[in-house]
Amino acid sequence: MNKHKLPEQGHPLLIILSGPSGVGKDAVVSRMRSLGKPFRIAVTATTRLRRSHETDGIDYYFRDKAAFQKMLIDKEFLEWAEVYGNLYGTPRSQIKKALESGIDVVVKTDVQGAFSIRKIVEEAVFIFLAPPNMEELSQRLKQRMTESPDALRLRLKTAESEMKEADKFDHIVVNYEGKLDDAVVEIEKIAASEHKRMPKRRVQL
Ligand code: 5GP
Repeated sequence: MNKHKLPEQGHPLLIILSGPSGVGKDAVVSRMRSLGKPFRIAVTATTRLRRSHETDGIDYYFRDKAAFQKMLIDKEFLEWAEVYGNLYGTPRSQIKKALESGIDVVVKTDVQGAFSIRKIVEEAVFIFLAPPNMEELSQRLKQRMTESPDALRLRLKTAESEMKEADKFDHIVVNYEGKLDDAVVEIEKIAASEHKRMPKRRVQL
């Protein structure tokens, strides 16, 4: 991006898309990608094993513990956390590179990750993706069949406390069943309104 000339819509936004596990953050960002929406999706790193439908470098950077620890020591992460026994981290370089290209960047994190980022980058836009209700979230996690019964119980228990944090976010978007595109449109509207509200806001990492 030209450093001296502000693009028409202002500086790019850093959008933190958060919410409980199973709410559909991955589905929303993949839909944004497949629809060719003007957002860069930051790829985060994890020590979790790759699920069969996932691709390294697209869904996550799948790293072993030693490689992740090295990234930690090299201070490569804007934020990192242990989530359900695995390590997850948001590489700072990913976000920087994407912001420099002048395009709004979306980062998916769990709720604790969003709060950590808020302490470092106040100018980011924080969106809480919520399920229509807890019953539906439970169904979605069960259908996904990626967790053992114990892991599923833990995710649901954590989700209940995460739902209580929704009001601390700048925006809440409900991901209704079968209405993925509506959630994408909502996020686009939020980005447009944030650009209008604070066109000169510049994210500093
Ligand atoms: P999953 O293993 O189901 O893909 O993700 C588990 C949780 O970790 C999800 O809530 C997901 O959003 C979160 N997560 C993914 N990447 C990051 C990250 O870089 N930082 C943090 N704090 N959480 C993340």
